[in-house]
Amino acid sequence: MIKVEGLYKNFGDLEVLKDINNIVESGEVVGVIGPSGSGKSTMLRCINRLEEITAGQVYIDDIPINDPQTDINQIRQKVGMVFQQFNLFPHKTALENITLAPIKVKNMSKSEAEKVAYDLLDKVGLRDKANSYPNQLSGGQKQRIAIARALAMQPKVMLFDEPTSALDPEMVGEVLEVMGALAEEGMTMVVVTHEMGFAREVGDRVIFMDEGRIVEDAPPEKLFDSPNEERTKEFLSKVL
Ligand code: ADP
Ligand code: MG
Repeated sequence: MIKVEGLYKNFGDLEVLKDINNIVESGEVVGVIGPSGSGKSTMLRCINRLEEITAGQVYIDDIPINDPQTDINQIRQKVGMVFQQFNLFPHKTALENITLAPIKVKNMSKSEAEKVAYDLLDKVGLRDKANSYPNQLSGGQKQRIAIARALAMQPKVMLFDEPTSALDPEMVGEVLEVMGALAEEGMTMVVVTHEMGFAREVGDRVIFMDEGRIVEDAPPEKLFDSPNEERTKEFLSKVL
């Protein structure tokens, strides 16, 4: 579903990603962990070309995204993204946040888009908040709406960039629960997270990044319990 080949990303003189190679199979859930500044967000952003790639290639569903022939908007429809800071439209209700892109980009009728949106609101447990504005929602509720909004485009892949890091501790669980259910349904997911428990339980694989490289890539039991690399051990000793 996702193939990353020889990906490099520089910001000016700063080499942020150095030869990233990875394949994410359809239905796979991959956790990405690593210290702050190691390039996790940049890697996610390169996967849907929110950042220009310096060198290498990323394929989504076999389509090269770093290619002038490729319609990047078509790619972005296949790749849903959820950010730490929700990024909901503040002057739109939860329902309008969810229906906006399907109506504008997919040319769905309003009634069809609303039907899809209510199904998604059910899925994230927030049907009763359809007409609430973001500032009337808790952080956990906002993030669940953001997930519903991403799902409304019927993506093939979901990228999550620290989706629970901005939440009060008591709201982390409700968001992880929605994500766990999505994984259970077979969604292909790449999740940058500090939630080691989630990465262990839900991840099929966990990638440890440091200084712009993938240092270790292994099933969760292996990576957390008996990592090969010193740097992985050192990082885990600080966070576990
Ligand atoms: P992480 O998500 O692992 O914390 P990031 O991908 O956000 O790491 O950042 C990796 C490195 O790239 C950091 O040194 C950061 O300062 C730098 N960086 C990220 N975005 C930009 C940008 N738009 N311009 C310049 N440097 C950036
Ligand atoms: Mg980040």
